[in-house]
Amino acid sequence: MKIAIFGGSFDPVHAEHINMVKAAIDSLGVNKTIIVPAFVAPHKQGRAHADPQDRLNMVRLAFEGIRNCEVSAFELNAGGTSYTYITLGYFRKKYPDAQLFFLVGADMLKDFYTWKEPETILSLCDLVVCNREGEKVNFALEQLKFFSTFHKKFKVIEYTGRDISSTKARVLCAFGEDLRPYLPDCVIEYIEANQLYRIDGVKGALKYLKPARAKHTLRVALTAAPFSAKYKLAENDVIRAAAFHDVAKNMDLNDSELSGFVPPEDVPSQVLHQYTGAYVAEHTFGVSQEDVLDAIRYHTSGRPNMSDLEKLIFLSDMLEPGRDFPGIKKLRKLFDTDLNDCMRLALKLTIKHLKRSKGKIYPLTFAAYEYYKELTDRRKT
Ligand code: FE
Ligand code: FE
Repeated sequence: MKIAIFGGSFDPVHAEHINMVKAAIDSLGVNKTIIVPAFVAPHKQGRAHADPQDRLNMVRLAFEGIRNCEVSAFELNAGGTSYTYITLGYFRKKYPDAQLFFLVGADMLKDFYTWKEPETILSLCDLVVCNREGEKVNFALEQLKFFSTFHKKFKVIEYTGRDISSTKARVLCAFGEDLRPYLPDCVIEYIEANQLYRIDGVKGALKYLKPARAKHTLRVALTAAPFSAKYKLAENDVIRAAAFHDVAKNMDLNDSELSGFVPPEDVPSQVLHQYTGAYVAEHTFGVSQEDVLDAIRYHTSGRPNMSDLEKLIFLSDMLEPGRDFPGIKKLRKLFDTDLNDCMRLALKLTIKHLKRSKGKIYPLTFAAYEYYKELTDRRKT
């Protein structure tokens, strides 16, 4: 008997998870696939968004009609951090004669080396890497590295799927976007009925935006949210800051939302909305986290010594996929590797652009550039 085991946070389960399993069933000829939602995935300490029971319920709904699939609550019942080698040990005992496969997405391959007891995992099962068509992973190279470390090869399955991740699904959900291309209907209904992945104020903020600005705002959130874990930020704060960053873009100082607002001195018109935006987020929507308010407050000008959230929103605003300007490719690369290097170049390009277009340059932007120039220079020496 051949059994495939598929673990993950499933926060929420989405169409790509299902496509992966279907591809594995077809190409490996497995008799059974066991889906195992993690209580706390090791690489996502404390970062689950929906309750374990809700995640389990969604996985059950999603895989109900798919042949030879069953859902195991083993890791949820065990509680604590869910380690794959323990889970596989359990299923090895339960099915001593079966050939076990463990399914992972191609993005997991580079992390596998840091998992707990990878050799034990490979003694219990064959690792199967599911790669979505069109994604660029150099499997020949990965296979060499893998073999030289573990003296065993992994298998690769190609499958077709939409561009979706659970993070993207959560952002789309918070923004009230159509989830049908990405999640099964039964999961969407469950999310709606149980009001999962909602973030206070996000939909309200969107009502203040013209359609093109709302789309830009969504793209900023989609650009920023995947970095939440890397910078140890609460994903909801990242999404909230993105949702509000341009909330006052189309407001007038006479609008009732801005009564009591005192503009800082000599703010150029294109920078003003960062201050009015923070004001509206705080006073109209009750956003109270200082870090979120500061990310809104400095998203256009920047400032010296920004927090990671401030940098993330500043740069996501500048680099979201709807943007295009000379130098953006290099900036996007730096964005993935180092926020301070990226800030330095982003501010340099901003100042250059403003000088060329004879726009007024806000002193805070100069100060921010000097700060990041000095910081990154100092680091190099
Ligand atoms: Fe803005
Ligand atoms: Fe913006």
